[in-house]
Amino acid sequence: LVDESYRRIEQVDDKVEAFLTLDEERARLKAKELEQKLGTDEAKGLLFGMPIGIKDNIVTRNLRTTCASKILDNFNPIYDATVVQKLQAAESITIGKLNMDEFAMGSSTENSGFQKTKNPWNLETVPGGSSGGSAAAVAAGEVPFSLGSDTGGSIRQPASFCGVVGLKPTYGRVSRFGLVAFASSLDQIGPVTRTVEDNAYLLQAIAGLDPMDSTSVNVDVPNFVQSLTGDVKGLKIAVPKEYIGEGVKEEVKQSVLDALKILEKLGATWEEVSLPHSKYALATYYLLSSSEASANLARFDGVRYGYRSPNADTLMNLYKNTRAEGFGDEVKRRIMLGTFALSSGYYDAYYKKAQKVRTLIKQDFENIFEKYDVIIGPTTPTPAFKMGENTADPMTMYRNDILTIPVNLAGVPGISVPCGFSNGLPLGLQIIGKHFDESTVYRVAHAFE
Ligand code: GLN
Repeated sequence: LVDESYRRIEQVDDKVEAFLTLDEERARLKAKELEQKLGTDEAKGLLFGMPIGIKDNIVTRNLRTTCASKILDNFNPIYDATVVQKLQAAESITIGKLNMDEFAMGSSTENSGFQKTKNPWNLETVPGGSSGGSAAAVAAGEVPFSLGSDTGGSIRQPASFCGVVGLKPTYGRVSRFGLVAFASSLDQIGPVTRTVEDNAYLLQAIAGLDPMDSTSVNVDVPNFVQSLTGDVKGLKIAVPKEYIGEGVKEEVKQSVLDALKILEKLGATWEEVSLPHSKYALATYYLLSSSEASANLARFDGVRYGYRSPNADTLMNLYKNTRAEGFGDEVKRRIMLGTFALSSGYYDAYYKKAQKVRTLIKQDFENIFEKYDVIIGPTTPTPAFKMGENTADPMTMYRNDILTIPVNLAGVPGISVPCGFSNGLPLGLQIIGKHFDESTVYRVAHAFE
């Protein structure tokens, strides 16, 4: 499998450009080592011998980790993220590190400081972002499994654009230790795969309480694979009218209605509902995520990690020049917005207000989940767009995440599973569940798939 993975990368990655760094020598050694176990009674890990690609904002010991930023070019972490340790325990094999929008800020992977990943279904369109490399690598058959991270849609939106399965787990389900923080109250690591079953296996391997991450939660990790029964009889589905309303493309709406018909045939029922505060989700998200980012990214000062500007005569100039030369435009935009929103005199009007609205958005979801098992809608309002089409206007780019962002603000789990095509480009169905109820999300996704 490892040989096949590198063969495929050799064949297609100069076109797709999903990988930033390969770990070929170590991966082949590891594969040889595991081969010894074949045909013996020795215990084998849950992901024994499975090739996996890792988003480049998840730290890997002695393996370059850049967050697709020039400021971390040639940064070699001294430890493995908890998820990476867990993958090693499950005996999967890391193939390499995957491209992304710089520090996970973006929806197209065009904000990478190094290269622009293409959508394997049509090389002129974007793979989505920020986990564009993770979704494209799986879609192109370079790896069967990858890890992404999702702060406002960064796993689900690229999964939708690339026709693969991507899950954002409940906030707290998977350890963030070793995930380079963008917005700590929203970030979650999650699996990207070809099928729902594969996805459940990968979540199984990485989920659970971690003493190194105080926001990881001590709840049971159920057997996700066992929940794939195919049975959705009696299941109650809510479809928010805001998710199939204005701004959502006709084919996208139709693909969701078609999916609902299939689920009805299988014995589920659905009703239209409302998430009345979702119209504030985008503004709330950009205030909160940028505020958190401005604090989190303060650590990149040219002293502790990565790039250091050679053109500095004073300490203050060292900070200034390193950050001016090291960060890309989008990252600077977020740092400025966040610093502004947190500054005295503006804090109450922006940051504090946004926190209050976040609570209202979370309550919208709680109200719906009192009566329904899952919420279903599209993952994105449109299929993948052309490269360059949205780069000039950040607001159009931001609107792409309008259907995924509320899920992060509420902290609940959400999956994107392929549900059709529009002009040869994949569409994704989003299934959203109750806190820590990934099992039901998977059950519905699997029955539909
Ligand atoms: N596209 C959104 C943003 O730019 C979400 C990114 C993410 O989930 N990491 O912030």
